Amino acid sequence: MDDMGNFNTKEKELHAEEIAVLGVPFDRNSSFRRGSESAPLRIMEALFCESANMWTENLIDLRLVSGWRILDALELLDTRTVFTQIKGKINNLLKRKARVISLGGDHSITYPIIQAYGKKYSELSILQLDAHPDLYNELDGNRYSHACPFARIMEEGLVKRLVQVGVRTLTGHQREQAKRFGVEIIEMREIDRADEAIFDGPLYLSLDMDCLDPAFAPGVSHHEPGGMSTRDVLRIIQNLKGELVGADIVEYNPERDPQGITGMVAGKLLKEIIGRMLEEKN
Ligand code: MN
Ligand code: MN
Repeated sequence: MDDMGNFNTKEKELHAEEIAVLGVPFDRNSSFRRGSESAPLRIMEALFCESANMWTENLIDLRLVSGWRILDALELLDTRTVFTQIKGKINNLLKRKARVISLGGDHSITYPIIQAYGKKYSELSILQLDAHPDLYNELDGNRYSHACPFARIMEEGLVKRLVQVGVRTLTGHQREQAKRFGVEIIEMREIDRADEAIFDGPLYLSLDMDCLDPAFAPGVSHHEPGGMSTRDVLRIIQNLKGELVGADIVEYNPERDPQGITGMVAGKLLKEIIGRMLEEKN
């Protein structure tokens, strides 16, 4: 691979079954503060940062190995059509048999992504790592807020199972929503049970950076203490049982990350997700 990997690969250059890393720079459904729009580029810079090498912990050298590419990031200019654009792009990539890793952006982008995935995979499960359940019916009058994507996904019956790990902000309303939709929650206070989440069939990983404790990843909009360590998340990624067909990394906010620490964490998690997917393929 070149210095910055296959940056700016066009969709039509993808080979069948390749892993496609796609930037989705959109943060207008954030409820508290914006900033995650610039995350995709910052995560890429961290991935290729010369302070680290590009070997995954399962000993794949991402500089040399084929099977993954970085696509042109989406250009999301017209706010009204953003979800349609995201869904359309993911649809096209899935038609090309890609496994897509989307880099947000705020967590609202997962809804249109899963609309596309749910169409292709009728038995899809989602593993969501997050401090928040994101199951609000609406927040501040916005049904598409980053606090709501999993309510929309479950209402539409897009997935077979939703398992949330690391949650530590449940409210009465969201508990009711979880019950209504049959969401399985392993709360942060029972994190030792994370290994019990075993999946069969196609699996999608939705990784909200605030699942991590702010001590490990301060560069997020919502600091929620009492979270996972970087190693906790790595262990979950590396031990995932099931066929990993897609993933996203969302809610990294570079504006709160002047030292770039959280960017490096996101880069490392991306590296390990790619490694996990490549391992499965071989
Ligand atoms: Mn979230
Ligand atoms: Mn969150």
